[in-house]
Order: sequence, then C-alpha cells, then structure tokens
Amino acid sequence: MTALASLKEVLAEVSDLRQAAELLGWDQETYMPAGGVQDRANQLGTLSRISHERFVAAGTGRLLEAAESEVAGVAEDSDDARLVRVARRDWDQETRLPSDLVVAMAREGAISRPVWQEAKAKGDWSLFAPRMRITVELAQRVAEAIGTTGRAYDALIDMNEPGLDTAAVEQTFSQLRTAIVPLLRRVQAHADRVDLSVLDREVEPAKQLSFSALVVERLGYDLQRGRQDLSAHPFCTSFGMGDVRITTRVKPGLREGCLFSSIHEAGHAMYEQGVSRALARTPLAMGTSPGVHESQSRLWENLVGRSRPFWTHFYPELKVAYGGALDDVGEEEFYRACNAVQPSYVRVDADELTYNLHVMLRFEIEKELLEGRLSVDEVPQAWAAQVKEYLGLEPPNGAEGPLQDIHWTFPILGGFIGYALGNVIGAQLMERARAELIALDDQIAAGDFAPLHGWLGEHVYRHGRKFTPQELVQKVTGRGIEPGPWMRYVECKFGDLYELN
Ligand code: ZN
Repeated sequence: MTALASLKEVLAEVSDLRQAAELLGWDQETYMPAGGVQDRANQLGTLSRISHERFVAAGTGRLLEAAESEVAGVAEDSDDARLVRVARRDWDQETRLPSDLVVAMAREGAISRPVWQEAKAKGDWSLFAPRMRITVELAQRVAEAIGTTGRAYDALIDMNEPGLDTAAVEQTFSQLRTAIVPLLRRVQAHADRVDLSVLDREVEPAKQLSFSALVVERLGYDLQRGRQDLSAHPFCTSFGMGDVRITTRVKPGLREGCLFSSIHEAGHAMYEQGVSRALARTPLAMGTSPGVHESQSRLWENLVGRSRPFWTHFYPELKVAYGGALDDVGEEEFYRACNAVQPSYVRVDADELTYNLHVMLRFEIEKELLEGRLSVDEVPQAWAAQVKEYLGLEPPNGAEGPLQDIHWTFPILGGFIGYALGNVIGAQLMERARAELIALDDQIAAGDFAPLHGWLGEHVYRHGRKFTPQELVQKVTGRGIEPGPWMRYVECKFGDLYELN
C-alpha cells in the first residue's frame, strides 16, 4: 500500500469524526431539548479531541512526508497533489494547536450558545460578556499558537482565508467604503422612489416555508440529499455529499420571512453538494473558504434571487402560494421592495448596499479586542459608535447590537470578513458567468437555472477545497480578488432602482 493510500484512510476517519460532530451541532441548533447542553458540550469536546489527535499524530506526519515524495512528479492541479498540499497546510496549522485548546474551543462553544440565546432574548450584553471574554482569550491563544510574523489577526484570517492578511482585507474594505458611502447618500436623497411597505404584509409561516422549499429545489438544491429545518440562526451543514442540510427562520411579516434566507443557505448547500465525488471523505470535500462559500450563498440570494428576471419567473407563483396576500401588488413594486436600501441594525436583514458596512464594523471591533485596545465591557459603546459612523443610526437595542450574531459563541474571531469577501467574489464570478452565458437573464426569467448551476458546478463547486480563494478566483476570472465588479454592480443596480442618473 502506498503512503498516499494510507494517508487517505486516516483522513477519511478524521472526516467521519468531524461530520459526526457536525451532526451533533445541527441537532443542538434544531431539535435538542435545552437540558442537553452539558452532555452535548462533553460529546463535542470528546469528538473534537479524538479527531484532532488522530489528525496531528506523529504517524500522520510521517505518512504526509512520504506522500509528498510520492506525488512529487504528479500534475500540480491533480486531486492527489492538491490533497497532499492542503493536508500539509492543515496539519502544520493543527499541530500548533495544543489538544486542550481544541477541546476547550468545542466545549466552551457549546456552553456559550444557550448563554448567548438568553442574553440576546433579554438584550443584555452583561450576561454574555463573561463568555465573550473566553472567546477573545481563546482567539488570542489560537493566534499565538498559529504564530505570525505580522499582526495577531493575520493568523486568524489565514486560518479562514488562506493567502489573505489583515492589510489586504483593510485595503479591500476601504475601497468598498469609498464606493458605498457616497452611493448610499445619493440613494437616501431619493428614498421615496422605493416603497417597501408591502413587506409589512403577513403570510402564514407554513405557506412561506413550503414555497421556499419549492424555490430552492428549482434552483438546484437536491432535497434527496438535503432537507430544510428551522433554527434561531439559519445555517448550512454537511455530513457528506449525500446529506447537506439547511435551516431557515420564519416570521409572518415578509420582511423577516424565510425566502431569502432559504435561498442563501441553499447557495451554500449547492456548493457542498456539487463537490466532486472523487474528493469524498478528504479535507478537500468542502468549500474552499468561508469567503468563497459566502460568494455562493450571496450570489444566489442577491444576484439571482433579488434580480428582475428571477421575479418575472417566480412572482406569479409566489402570489398564488401566499394565498392572496400580495394580490394587489405588481411585480415591479415587489421587486423594488425586495431591493430597498435602508440602513438598519441587523446584518442578516441588511440590504445589499449597506450589508458590507455591517461586516466592516465587526472587523474593526474584533481587531481591537484581539489586539487588546478594547475590553469586552466596552463592546456595546464601540458598537454604537460604529453604527453611528457607518450607518448613520442611533445606538441600537441590546438584541440589535453586538448580540445579534451567533458567531462569537463559536468561539473564534476572524470569520466575519468572509461575508464581505463573499459579496466581492460573488460579483466577480457572476460577471464572468454572464460573459460566458449570454442568455443568462432569459434563462432565469424562464425558470431555467440549470445553465448557471452547471457553470458554477464546473468552475467552482467541483473543485472543493483544492484551490485557495485567490487561486480559484484567478483561475475563473483571470484576476485576483478585487472589489471592482461588485462596485460596478451596485452602482448600476441601485442607480437604476433609485433613478439616480
Ligand atoms: Zn452564509
């Protein structure tokens, strides 16, 4: 047996253990009774420790070294060569994390979750603050263990988005800000041109849920290998290519309805379902990074789901499915309402234009916390100041401030940047897809999503984690990650919507 084959066996076991832990996590967010928290924390801690120890074992290191010699002459982009390269990167990174830190992250995360839920329900940051101190401390320990020649935040970014660093993200974000802020001002001066009051209408949640399931299936989410459940914070999780699940949340009011969040999560799920079967049970059998993952969810949610051709196709069906609630509302009116720009407190409800500002705000606060310039107790004030500066809004209520997102329970920092990178990368990929699929809008208007789904499958999904974000974007578009296409897209879309030109 070759070393590569033996290495694949180890990696397959590690992948099984991790996916079993994912299943426990999915259950915790969907059906687990509240009393299960402590047992679940222990189980997740144990599984994380076993998979971590199995992966970082000296034996795995020796297999890796031998496998590296075996693939030395193999084509650089082949599955085997890429597998060994990615396994090496992961191994080098994970061997730097001591076992007790890995266990602590899994256990503390499970314990933080219900505390966050209660703190959010009561809108009281002080309840969550002790857990947040643990998150910051663990993130600092991770950054220190991974090590970096630059800033502490670099290590966390590199773990999430290999190849990028704090300076690169700061540069991209400042370019985005210079495009968003003046455009937002112009839009706000003509806010009366778009009326979003139709979204105050109410539709029974069951009707919304079944319509969203119908839509995501038609986009290409395979429900034979997936399902949709409810959770407080929508997410997508994979237990293998044959079982990729999404969750959504729903309220009667259409503003907080489930459709766009279902489409968003289905975008993630289609990516996971579309990874080449040859990569199953390897570290390559998942999306390449949170940022690229988010490019797929945001592409389907916004560039497709909030487009005119999409509603040309779906609006008549939506009117029927929603049982008359929108009978007197025309397609154009509904399309405009779905795209209305209105600075708000909650990231997941933010419009396309202001969304990135929410991400930048978290990025700034995380950097300050990690680098010790801000204390956990000062987060609400810092948050309020950023909300004022970026979004022009007065300080939010507790639940609409720093407690709104689940991410700080995980417990790690550095993950939020993926949401803004996702918008940037999604627009780059879509610009390329449009150049190749010249009838794309007509296809979407006809309800034919197969060409776009197929294009993404060919250029993005099937590669799994073979390429870094930069490599993938370069391969597909011929250029590195750059905000130009997203900036052109919002300028064009909102310029048209608000009749700015
Ligand atoms: Zn997402």
